[in-house]
Amino acid sequence: MRLSTITNWAYGATVALTLFSGVTMLMASSAEERERAAVAQRATFDQATATLEEDVYRLTEQARGFVISGDPSHLIAYRREKEALRSVEQRIAHLRDVGASEAELTALRQAMHWADALTDEQETAIRAAQASDAGTARTILFGDEYGRELDRVAAQVGKFQYMLDQRTDHAVTRATDTARQWRTMSEIMLGMTALLFLCVLYFVLKQRILRPVVRLSDVVTRLAAQDYDAIPPDTAHVDEIGDMAQAIRIFRENGLERQRLEKERDADRMMRDLISRLTQRLQGCDNVSDLVDVVRRFAPEIAPDFPGRLYIHDNRRNAMTQACGWLSPVYSRGEFPPSACWALRRGQTHRPIGEMVDIPCEHLGVTDSVSTICIPLAAQGESIGMLYYEEPTNSSADHRERTGQYLEMLAENIGLALANLRLRDALREMAMADALTGLPNRRQFDAMLQTLVQDADRHGTPLACLMVDIDHFKRFNDSYGHDAGDAVLRAVGNVLGDSLREHGHAFRLGGEEFVILMPGFTLDQALGRAMQIQRRIQDLRLGHNGKELGPITASFGLSAFPDHGRPDRLLQTADAALLRAKSEGRDRILVATVRDGASAAA
Ligand code: GH3
Ligand code: MG
Ligand code: MG
Repeated sequence: MRLSTITNWAYGATVALTLFSGVTMLMASSAEERERAAVAQRATFDQATATLEEDVYRLTEQARGFVISGDPSHLIAYRREKEALRSVEQRIAHLRDVGASEAELTALRQAMHWADALTDEQETAIRAAQASDAGTARTILFGDEYGRELDRVAAQVGKFQYMLDQRTDHAVTRATDTARQWRTMSEIMLGMTALLFLCVLYFVLKQRILRPVVRLSDVVTRLAAQDYDAIPPDTAHVDEIGDMAQAIRIFRENGLERQRLEKERDADRMMRDLISRLTQRLQGCDNVSDLVDVVRRFAPEIAPDFPGRLYIHDNRRNAMTQACGWLSPVYSRGEFPPSACWALRRGQTHRPIGEMVDIPCEHLGVTDSVSTICIPLAAQGESIGMLYYEEPTNSSADHRERTGQYLEMLAENIGLALANLRLRDALREMAMADALTGLPNRRQFDAMLQTLVQDADRHGTPLACLMVDIDHFKRFNDSYGHDAGDAVLRAVGNVLGDSLREHGHAFRLGGEEFVILMPGFTLDQALGRAMQIQRRIQDLRLGHNGKELGPITASFGLSAFPDHGRPDRLLQTADAALLRAKSEGRDRILVATVRDGASAAA
């Protein structure tokens, strides 16, 4: 049973007992009232009847005095007494109204009857005395009969008073007993009420005050020690303890909120540290492969329950290709055109969530809406990649929202790093490649030559160097214009690049001079390759502005290691051979001689 029910019942019982006790007190008071009424009634009867007997005797005295002395004063007194007796009789006639019983009234009426009989005889005697018949008068008033009648009056009055005494005593006794009983009951009720009240008071003090206060004090002590597992009692009392419990509950909720915010802040700080570390690592990346490694390592740390993939745009195929993935994502193909992703189409994050109506990206390979995030990686308005995530369905919306913000930061950093790498690659390419022919330039040639010379020196591997110079190139410029000259350079450059494929490296040294490095090629092999190139150049037929440009030829100087001495002199040796080829008539391949090597060394 609930505490409130018990106390309500107890309150009810206390009130009922109090009421009952009040009723018993009223009953006792009423019994006492009845007792008082009985006594008052008796006083009234006494007062009404007490003078009856005396008056009868006084009338007798006055009548006898007149009869004996003939003194008229006796007669006057007699008349006055008689009047008094009549008023007594009138009063007695009303006694029924004030509660006299029939028997009492009969006794009283009998007394009055005898009193009337006596007054009749007294009148007869007075009249006889006035008629000077003193003998008759005396006989009447002093006779035995008169005496007996007097006694009868006294006897009847006595009888009435006896009966009255009996009744009054009985009524008083009964009323007294009743009053005592009610009073006793009232006292018992009062006692029980007091006891019950004390019990309720004890119960309320213990259950509603002492116990909650002890619990609240315990909770406050634990909360002060930042133990927020302490839960204040859930009291619905509208009193000071209820207010206190409510205040402690608010205090605890505030503490919990503060703790949650602190945790959130710590987690946020950790995450930002992690992202900052990722940014530093990304800045240190030399190439896309490094970047992919960094992303593969950091992405699952930043969003541990978000499987995902990193896509990088492949310019040649205009496709988004997966560079790496983590935590085993379920959806999204490994390669897709940028148009298959809404994020790439719109240039902003595409995040179809749960039940909300949205369009899933084509590259997901599903038609139903799934919770995914596509974040485009952009640089100067161009989509250079995309971060793809699958959202965990069992996590809270708050967690998803917060992680989403980190993913945006992550994407921003990866996009920036990727753009930087691309820019760097482009700059490097521009610095290393010849813009007209697309062949690596002199700078790259120098670096490559140094590497290959070191290899040849260290391992003794063969290395061939073929210098190429277009014959009378100036004439193309002069005869057909600079653009025509450029076209010839491009065509020769293509021939050199294509004819080597992976077996060697062609460079444009400047002007109409080219060089080919063929690591691993013997002199003979290199010569065979040089002849092929010569033929293909001879076969070139170019036109410009509708005009045939005429035959194109080139002169070649070939040197090789170990045939022509030190590898670091190969270029100069080949150049010397080329010079000889020019001087000997052009459109030919001259293999370097020892003299070429010596002149180069000099
Ligand atoms: P030779 O047979 O002795 O090598 O004679 P040549 O005319 O080929 O050689 P020369 O060194 O006299 O002339 C080279 C010319 O190439 C001079 C220069 O104007 C021209 N040239 C250099 N670079 C370019 C270029 O990028 N485009 C064009 N169209 N001409 C260029
Ligand atoms: Mg030249
Ligand atoms: Mg030339």
